[in-house]
Amino acid sequence: MQIKRLKLSGFKSFVEPAELRIEPGLTGVVGPNGCGKSNLLEAIRWVMGENSPKSMRSGGMEDVIFAGTESRPPRDFAEVILHAEDDHGEELDVTRRIERGAGSAYRVNGSDVRAKDVSLTFADAATGAHSPALVSQGKIAQVIAAKPAERRQMLEEAAGIAGLHVRRRDAESKLRQTETNLARLEDLMAGLD
Ligand code: ATP
Repeated sequence: MQIKRLKLSGFKSFVEPAELRIEPGLTGVVGPNGCGKSNLLEAIRWVMGENSPKSMRSGGMEDVIFAGTESRPPRDFAEVILHAEDDHGEELDVTRRIERGAGSAYRVNGSDVRAKDVSLTFADAATGAHSPALVSQGKIAQVIAAKPAERRQMLEEAAGIAGLHVRRRDAESKLRQTETNLARLEDLMAGLD
C-alpha cells in the first residue's frame, strides 16, 4: 500500500485544513521544535484506527481536537483523510472524524464503516496504526528493550498476519456462540420428547 495524500482539519495543532502529498520513497518531515511533526505521524495512526489516547499523547480521544489558543477558539471536530493506493492499484480514501461528545466515525470511499473494518483493511496490507513502518520518537529504544512476545507481535504486523488473529478470535467467538445455541436446541428438543 502506498500512502499518497493526507488531509487534516482541526486535528491537534492543524486547525486550518492542511493537505500533504506523500511522494514515493523516503519522506522526511523537518521543522522547529513543537511545529507539529509528531502530530502528523499521529494523524496517520489515528485515521488507521488507533484507539489508545496514550499513544496520541492525549488524556482522552477528544484531546486530538484543536483545543484553541489565546487568539483562536477551540474546534468542535477533528478530521483526517488518508488517500492511498493498494497493491492492485485500487484507490482507497479513509476518513476518520471525531466530534465533541459524539465519538469517532469512519468512512471508506464515502461509505460508513466500523473501526474494525478500517483496522483490518490496513492490517491485511501489512500496515496500520501499530505498523513498524511508522517510526516515532523513542521507537528504536522500545524495540531494543522489547520482550520476545512483543518482538513477535511487531514481526507479525510487518508480515501482514496481524489481521488473521482478529479474524480467528471472531471465528472462535462465533463457534462458541453456535455451540451454546446447539446445546440449548438439544435441551428444547429433549423437552419435546
Ligand atoms: P519536537 O520537535 O519538539 O518533537 P514536533 O514538531 O514533533 O516537536 P508536535 O509534538 O507534533 O511537535 O506538536 C506539538 C504542538 O502541538 C504543541 O505546540 C502543542 O501545543 C500542539 N498541540 C497538541 N495537541 C493540540 C490540540 N489538541 N490543540 C492545539 N494544539 C495542540
